[in-house]
Amino acid sequence: MTIPSLELNNGVRIPALGFGVYQTPPDETIAAVDTALATGYRHIDTAAVYGNEREVGEALRRRGLPRDEVFVETKVWITDFGFDATAHAFAKSAAKLGIEQIDLLILHQALPSEFDLTIQAYKALEALLADGRVRAIGVSNFMPEHLTRLLEATSVVPAVNQIEVHPYFRQSELLALDSEHGVLNQAWSPIGGITFYRDGSHGSTLEDPVIGGIASAHGKSPAQVMLRWHLQQGRQVIPKSVTPARIAENFAVFDFELTAGELAAIDALDTGVRGGPEPEQITRENFGVEIPEA
Ligand code: NAP
Repeated sequence: MTIPSLELNNGVRIPALGFGVYQTPPDETIAAVDTALATGYRHIDTAAVYGNEREVGEALRRRGLPRDEVFVETKVWITDFGFDATAHAFAKSAAKLGIEQIDLLILHQALPSEFDLTIQAYKALEALLADGRVRAIGVSNFMPEHLTRLLEATSVVPAVNQIEVHPYFRQSELLALDSEHGVLNQAWSPIGGITFYRDGSHGSTLEDPVIGGIASAHGKSPAQVMLRWHLQQGRQVIPKSVTPARIAENFAVFDFELTAGELAAIDALDTGVRGGPEPEQITRENFGVEIPEA
């Protein structure tokens, strides 16, 4: 099955549903990505800091699909920010992935306390884009003020902002700001993976009674309902799984439709509580993992 695609602001198309590999251990990555490709996924989202780019590349080679049929996205970690360092980060990632051109290269985080360095990193992405080394560039975890400052200081509007979005944390103002500037919202933890470990009344989105009720009404699973919610609201999604049955389940979301009332009921579950780290508090001191050479 060919899945629908979305057009980025530079005309490049990205599948509406991709496959994430955060926390997928390197020794499970080849099998997971291979299963995803066999299922029909054509977009893989990895990152230098996930430590599994090499295995993603190996899975791509083993499956042997034409290069232009798979959309490969990766992210530059904050220790590689700076014009020259970010250009080198591209070279490291491309070599580990074993590809010449990366479809979408994004800054993994802003560095709010060193925003000049963030700008220099983004300028390196602009240069890579101009040189044809990447087909599109973007950002991740950029909050409204980060996006506004970036837009003021650079010339290429990011194609995507990859941010935490699931029924318990919707970031509706940020979603609207991205859309206003033509930046595609890419939802990470789209089925609420980051909520699975949370204590309290809003535990896992998978066990939410509202989502469960909607799922039963459609004969679908809670994960499928959440993915459908994103897709119908125009967001691109990148669910992660190492489990073959779930990899297939998360792909089977193009044969049903949620009603406007169901979408609104899911919107109303927003708790305003972030699962991931507070973007304003990301610093190289706290999160400074070194990215190895290829
Ligand atoms: P997620 O995709 O919402 O959830 C993943 C979790 O859900 C895993 O524990 C997985 O378990 C489980 N799962 C998957 N499908 C399921 C299903 N159908 N039913 C029940 N459980 C299911 O969360 P995520 O991994 O945090 O986010 C997805 C992707 O977003 C990541 O892989 C990464 O590519 C990206 N991401 C980006 C950032 C960023 O800062 N830019 C941060 C986080 C994530 P199993 O694997 O054991 O099946």
